[in-house]
Amino acid sequence: MDKVRTRFAPSPTGFMHIGNLRTCLYAYLFAKKNNGKFVLRIEDTDQERYVEGAVDVIYSTLKKAGIQHDEGPDKDCGYGPYIQSQRKSLYLDYAKELVDKGGAYYCFCDKERLDSLKDERGVAKYDKHCLSLNKEEVEKRIASGEPYVIRQNVPTEGFSEYDDMVFGHISVPNEDMEDGVLIKSDGMPTYNFANVVDDHLMAINYVIRGVEYLSSTPKYNLMYDAFGWERPHYMHLSPIMKDAQRKLSKRYGDANFEDFLAKGYLPKAIVNYIALLGWSPKGNDEKLTMDELIQQFDVEGISKSPSIFDETKMRWLNGEYIKQMSVDEFAEVAKPFFEASKVAGKYDYKALAKLLIPRVEVLGEIAEKVDFLEEFAEYDVAMFEHKKMKITRQLALDNLKAIRYDFADFEDWTDEALKQKGMELAEKLGCKSGQIFLPWRLALTGAQTTPGGATEMAELLGKDESMRRLDFSIDLLCRNI
Ligand code: GLU
Repeated sequence: MDKVRTRFAPSPTGFMHIGNLRTCLYAYLFAKKNNGKFVLRIEDTDQERYVEGAVDVIYSTLKKAGIQHDEGPDKDCGYGPYIQSQRKSLYLDYAKELVDKGGAYYCFCDKERLDSLKDERGVAKYDKHCLSLNKEEVEKRIASGEPYVIRQNVPTEGFSEYDDMVFGHISVPNEDMEDGVLIKSDGMPTYNFANVVDDHLMAINYVIRGVEYLSSTPKYNLMYDAFGWERPHYMHLSPIMKDAQRKLSKRYGDANFEDFLAKGYLPKAIVNYIALLGWSPKGNDEKLTMDELIQQFDVEGISKSPSIFDETKMRWLNGEYIKQMSVDEFAEVAKPFFEASKVAGKYDYKALAKLLIPRVEVLGEIAEKVDFLEEFAEYDVAMFEHKKMKITRQLALDNLKAIRYDFADFEDWTDEALKQKGMELAEKLGCKSGQIFLPWRLALTGAQTTPGGATEMAELLGKDESMRRLDFSIDLLCRNI
């Protein structure tokens, strides 16, 4: 096999669609698996869609995702420029070469004539009108400044065929294909032309991209053939769907990499999950690092059918990655989420991290899990009642008072020491430990669920605040017994 060269050719739109990121990932994995090169090319010729800062989004996404390009605008290895708008000058010459070789022709038809070709559905198939113009006439009209486009000359009979690495044999009747525009009247290439020229000049021999290009590829092959260039291999990828009918959509915040980062997914988990969307590893293990993905990636595992994006599964996977994090790592990645919560700047994030690591699947859950620390106010004392543990409001009140008394002079305000002392108190009172710790936790938090038990909460709050809340809850219970 020739040295594998794959590419990712995003248009800078300002965001990274999950489907595009997966295309990028597969192109990267395939290149790395085969000791090849992975090239980044920015397809920015569609100036109408130009978005300020959008190229940076591409770089930062790749970086966060752990996908390292070997070549690209910032790493020119002799195949540059890697930004399409900087390649503008070369397309016209190649189009002229294609005209000389019979694969394309000049077309001077104006809008009126093109409109007249439209059928009742408003669809026009160009009728090769200008193909019959002779060379002299063409040159004369160009010299006189008449506007023109360059069109592909697609055969009218027979079939164009190729073998896709995922979809197998593809055969398209030539009469179904149009003589599409390759060079527009402003001299700029269309995607259909630029992708062929760029892939050839960049020596891309494995083209990996979305399935929407599957049926245009025969047209591209006709150009490769007419130029006398070697065709690349193709791998087209099925879309990622929200469900059987719907695509992932930006509107629901489930289409872009950035949406998921904002929800608190870790880039590693997203990459791991999307690797599995449309590709199945041979083994059963689904939690795979980038190195493992590279080792295991194979074309046979790629599916032809669309894959359904299952956020619940990605959430689970994200939780698994979180569980493996150290307190420091978690505190670091969770910082923006702490900062956006009510506890911002008020608690030790590492102490919170310790409690949260086993309890959150995505970082976006942090606020709801910690906000109670700051939201302490009157709450429903019915929460104290617990049938199974035989806790009544009265028992809760009595035990809270005992805690208040017993801990008043206690200074070792750490989870462990408090737990130890709580157990001793239960023994002294002749009650179950739950009858101490449950009311205590409620009294400190006023919340049904908390990311940790009474003593962990107490440590977090510190002694003064713990005692203040205990007094508040004792008073509240007294008034509502
Ligand atoms: N710029 C195209 C896109 O974003 C690239 C398609 C391709 O990979 O050839 O869809």
